Amino acid sequence: MHYRKPCGSVLEAIGNTPLVRLRRVVADLPAEIFAKLEFMNPMGSSKDRIARYMIEAAEKDGRLKPGDTIIENSSGNTAMGLALLALQKGYKLKAVVRDTISKEKLNQLLALGVDVVKADTSLPPEHPESYNHLAVKLARETPGCYFPDQHGNRENNAAHYHGTGPEVWEQMEGRIDVFVAGAGTGGTIGGTGRYLKEQDPKIRVIAVDPVGSVFSPHFRGEKEPKAGPYKIEGLGDEFLIPTMEFDVVDDMLQITDRQAFHHARRLVREEGILGGGSSGAALWAVRQVAKRLPPREKPYRIVTVFPDGAGRYLSSIFNDAWMAAQGLLEPDAEG
Ligand code: PMP
Repeated sequence: MHYRKPCGSVLEAIGNTPLVRLRRVVADLPAEIFAKLEFMNPMGSSKDRIARYMIEAAEKDGRLKPGDTIIENSSGNTAMGLALLALQKGYKLKAVVRDTISKEKLNQLLALGVDVVKADTSLPPEHPESYNHLAVKLARETPGCYFPDQHGNRENNAAHYHGTGPEVWEQMEGRIDVFVAGAGTGGTIGGTGRYLKEQDPKIRVIAVDPVGSVFSPHFRGEKEPKAGPYKIEGLGDEFLIPTMEFDVVDDMLQITDRQAFHHARRLVREEGILGGGSSGAALWAVRQVAKRLPPREKPYRIVTVFPDGAGRYLSSIFNDAWMAAQGLLEPDAEG
């Protein structure tokens, strides 16, 4: 047995997450399917990687100075990663979250001492206090602050290009046919997908985003895609954003809340893997991809990412009363 040496600080425990082969929940599919368990990062999501990368890059070139306040908008996970960096390195953190954020995520941010500002999701996207604009406004008004801007800063993608990508490549010993991942900022799919394609241009990269996000319609060539409401946290957007690298993506699938949430439930109940809503989306997407691949003798090897954990959604996705109140309790025909 090879044991990991002690980490010099909790920051060194970021990344290097396990890649596990899925079994029961994909037993009907003619492919080997692997998932990277990103909820095993110290703050419980893939976003720890980008928080560390963006903060350390900004420290290096002086964009971030001792005593500064970090301001960021986040579906919750990036804010937790940034909270870890802020606590370890002595910065303050103000996080803008949507007022629809899950109770568990909000409570964890408050437990970490984060100054949380809730954006009113009933405001139109162009409103200066809407989720996408409020952090920019606060950053402009706050002296001595740094706005990492995960939606506009390709250091987000670089964290995955230099971290998640090489890890997956090594863990799979260079034998991968398809990489599938959810797209929120696009950092994971862009950074990891680009790295993997550079190693082997035959690897196909497939993204998944929610019905209501503008990414998939844009990818299919719609000129002015309209955003709509959805409940999956962390995926999709109502705007096209600079971190979403469409040129890396070979195909995009769109998923409903019902499909994502019931696949998160399947992941937990059939496989014992405690993934959150976007992990459910990833499972649904790999299942679609595996079903559509042309038959071949050697099984395909498909890799996906489970970005965060079920513990963040116990009062929503994993709660029957909440699911019933959303009209989502019954799965669709596909399960
Ligand atoms: N799932 C969850 C739960 C997330 O918080 C995020 C980040 N927004 C993603 C998936 C998508 O990752 P990325 O931003 O790298 O596209």
